[in-house]
Amino acid sequence: MTSRRKFLETLSVTSFAIPILYSPASLFAATTEPYDGPILKVAIMGLGSYGTRVAEAMQSCKRAKLVGVISGTPSKIKKWQSKYNIPEKNCYNYENFDAIKDNPDIDAVYIITPNGLHKEQTIRVAKAGKHVISEKPMGINAQEGQEMVDVCKAANVKLLIGYRMHFEPKTVAVIQMRKDGVFGETKFFQGQSGFTIGDPTQWRLNKELSGGGAMMDIGIYSINGARYMLGEEPVWVTAQETKTDPVKFKEGIDETIQFQMGFPSGAVANCLSTYSMNNLDRFYMTGSKGFVEMQPSTGYGPIEGRTHKGPLTQPHVTHQTLQMDGMAALIFDGVQPIVPVDGEEGVKDMKIIDAIFLAAKTGEKVTL
Ligand code: NAD
Repeated sequence: MTSRRKFLETLSVTSFAIPILYSPASLFAATTEPYDGPILKVAIMGLGSYGTRVAEAMQSCKRAKLVGVISGTPSKIKKWQSKYNIPEKNCYNYENFDAIKDNPDIDAVYIITPNGLHKEQTIRVAKAGKHVISEKPMGINAQEGQEMVDVCKAANVKLLIGYRMHFEPKTVAVIQMRKDGVFGETKFFQGQSGFTIGDPTQWRLNKELSGGGAMMDIGIYSINGARYMLGEEPVWVTAQETKTDPVKFKEGIDETIQFQMGFPSGAVANCLSTYSMNNLDRFYMTGSKGFVEMQPSTGYGPIEGRTHKGPLTQPHVTHQTLQMDGMAALIFDGVQPIVPVDGEEGVKDMKIIDAIFLAAKTGEKVTL
């Protein structure tokens, strides 16, 4: 209660200081106001490190509830059952989860497994008649992404991608400022996304399961960020790859890629994606009237940043809590986040990733 009140207080102070922010208000209302509408009943598939984070965050959701699990590890299922009070009838493994179609107590499945599995799992969930939330990257290339979109459409279920930044208060505020013309014409974006990856045996360094290296995992934040910060879709890319450790980063697993994107207005973006450097989580955007810099820009938070008007002061709320309440509002009430989180949005990023890989390989400028 105290923290809710504090959140509301901060919200009203902030709204007073910069009244154009907080759009759409209904997304925030989903987390702050009393709620007695329908609850999105979610099963998580893949009980790994990010699945665990989402499960914890969902404990504070108002509109979404963790009610089921899909896992290949019986001991994890038992642990989650007792921790989150999950009934036996809502527990599945990777062999039998198609039976979820006969379970009216599950509305949606949140797929939080390695990237290379998302497509097949999405298709199975959609065919079972349940909404799909897939983690990013939605698949391992644009063709897979498009297939996922088509199958979900045919099955008449929603396909949403885990773009948590589209619900994050400071990010939403900056996007709203850009839409309101506070930065003038957007001119330049710089995105730096990276960390030093550890264990060489993990799935993130296995092409079949990951689809690529740093770009699929973390570089995608700079791609998506460039699009929502500049408010345009790129028309060309160029890219240069550097590999210092070909044993750890095998063929098809990018270690470091610098890439550039050009936009219809003439705006340009210059980005770095890497698995070999730390302290890279920074966005900078400048326009004809002002600028914004955010660092950290996409970590779990708090996000920090400032514009030419002053610091960004919106409150930190656990990203995945806002995301899951926002996705429930989207599914039940059609409330759209400020930037889409649907399958089509995911395909846009996948097409750019495909083009970046091609540009890095050929050294050519690739037109989108
Ligand atoms: P993880 O390795 O911690 O967990 C993956 C889970 O998938 C594990 O529980 C594992 O047992 C299970 N799994 C099922 N089949 C598997 C197989 N064949 N091989 C390996 N594991 C298998 O990974 P993670 O960090 O939780 O990442 C999972 C997904 O979430 C990825 O798509 C990743 O990009 C995404 N992710 C998103 C964010 C975000 O902020 N949105 C953050 C981290 C990860």
